Amino acid sequence: MRLLPETNSYGNLTENFVWQIPEKFNIGVAICDAWADKDPDREALVFAEDGGDVTSYSYADLKRLSNQLANLLKDRGVQPGDRVGVLMPQRPEAAIAHIAALKLGAITIPLFTLFGEEALSYRLGNSGAKAVITDENGAVKLSGLRDQLPHLSTLFCADGAAEGAEDLWGHMRGHEDTFTPFETRSDDPALIIYTSGTTGQPKGALHAHRVLLGHLPGVEMSHDFLGQPGDRIWTPADWAWIGGLLDVLMPALYLGVPVVACRFRKFTAEAAFQLLQDHKIRNAFLPPTALKMMRQIEAPQDRWTLNVRSVASGGETLGAELIDWGRRTFGLTINEFYGQTECNMIVSSCAAIMEARPGVMGRAVPGHQVDVVDEAGKPAPDGVLGTIAVKSPDPVMFLGYWNNADATRRKFTGEWLLTGDTGQRDADGWIRFVGRDDDVITSSGYRIGPGEIEDCLLKHPAVAMAGVVGKPDQRRTEIVKAYIVLKSDIEPSDALAEEIASFVKIRLAAHEYPREVAFVDALPMTTTGKVIRKELRARAEAEE
Ligand code: ATP
Ligand code: MG
Repeated sequence: MRLLPETNSYGNLTENFVWQIPEKFNIGVAICDAWADKDPDREALVFAEDGGDVTSYSYADLKRLSNQLANLLKDRGVQPGDRVGVLMPQRPEAAIAHIAALKLGAITIPLFTLFGEEALSYRLGNSGAKAVITDENGAVKLSGLRDQLPHLSTLFCADGAAEGAEDLWGHMRGHEDTFTPFETRSDDPALIIYTSGTTGQPKGALHAHRVLLGHLPGVEMSHDFLGQPGDRIWTPADWAWIGGLLDVLMPALYLGVPVVACRFRKFTAEAAFQLLQDHKIRNAFLPPTALKMMRQIEAPQDRWTLNVRSVASGGETLGAELIDWGRRTFGLTINEFYGQTECNMIVSSCAAIMEARPGVMGRAVPGHQVDVVDEAGKPAPDGVLGTIAVKSPDPVMFLGYWNNADATRRKFTGEWLLTGDTGQRDADGWIRFVGRDDDVITSSGYRIGPGEIEDCLLKHPAVAMAGVVGKPDQRRTEIVKAYIVLKSDIEPSDALAEEIASFVKIRLAAHEYPREVAFVDALPMTTTGKVIRKELRARAEAEE
């Protein structure tokens, strides 16, 4: 089932790689029914509740339950092409809802539980969702929005009837547990996933069923060949984001790797280590922000017994400091990967076959043509800064932004999808992330990425988190300004600010050190844990 052969060289991996995308393909069938038919009792999902209860679901369980739900939705008039919202944290019903709606040929919209009414109204209105499957919290939020959402005719709640929502389990029980899936083509739409909204209003990326196959090489590579005997995966990233849904839940189910689901009331470093230990997690996707929180615990290896085989990280710059910490803590090299909601998992490291280069994300994942291009869409020479771009067609690439043909057009130059990220490629095809185009700092004629400076700042023993931006400056165009969250027991002072600035000055080039250092209690972050540098930039400009 794995797409990549196990080999010991990157060359072998890429040379013989050919996509095999069948004409007909359905994600729901591929991640559930396919296994249920050949190995029904195989463990698919492990639900670890906050109170300590653990429930295990086999593929046969998921098939039976998703069939019941598919019949129920069909009964309520949901048809192929209709949109179905899934508003739940990590829990079995969320997986079952996706599988059921996809088998029905509907398009699912993963929605994040922390979204407020405005965010939900925007997404459900924009996508014209006909049905939503949610929990009690979601039902309360949606109850006030029904007037604004004329298309939304069906609302089910996984915690029993609540606030105008019907009891999901009660209604499912009355339905047949056999269902004939709708035969979707691999190019048919399957999901609308909204971007993180780091740079502005989130955009709904419409993906086809093939997007799952498009993810597999990157998922396999970033976990040193995911799908080994005993593999068992977990991520704190919510399944409402591409990083939780298509980098973990769906590909793991496809590969037959059990997924541990957990809904933390609040993510804490302690809870994360405890879960890794208690559920014998072998593979984890831990975004850099989660790693930075976990890093604040002293000597975790003395408190927890871990048996992790692979850790993948992405969504933000990983950097040397976190890689070093990962080696000490997990005894392995964290693999960085790169992508975006529109076109994901296209660059990766893979410690099993190539030595990590801290500060460099990795190389093109087999099957994807990734390059750095200039403004005209021409590949830039080695080492020259340009925009990271992906050549189309590519099975992992989105179909377009939902209801926004203009934005879709702007995303491409010729056959290249432009990521909007600045990077650099070397002669061996390693790709360095410099920064989002808007985040790159121009100072005294140099173009500087914030990631490298943030990574260096993290090495200072007093620093917990760092966000770096350019602050307008008459003489130098911009100067580097660092916003720092100190570790909990450290007092801010001017002397410490100076010490931190010179700490960077002696480690990086002189033009890269932060001429200004400000201490803050927290950095502005998206719900996915990404630093919103745009906000820091506005703050820096306002200080002028
Ligand atoms: P929006 O497009 O709404 O502003 P967003 O770009 O943050 O939000 P996502 O699609 O979730 O939404 O994030 C993709 C972006 O995350 C990439 O374009 C890139 O800027 C950043 N990113 C992803 N992986 C990495 C990585 N390994 N290193 C640095 N940045 C990364
Ligand atoms: Mg983006």
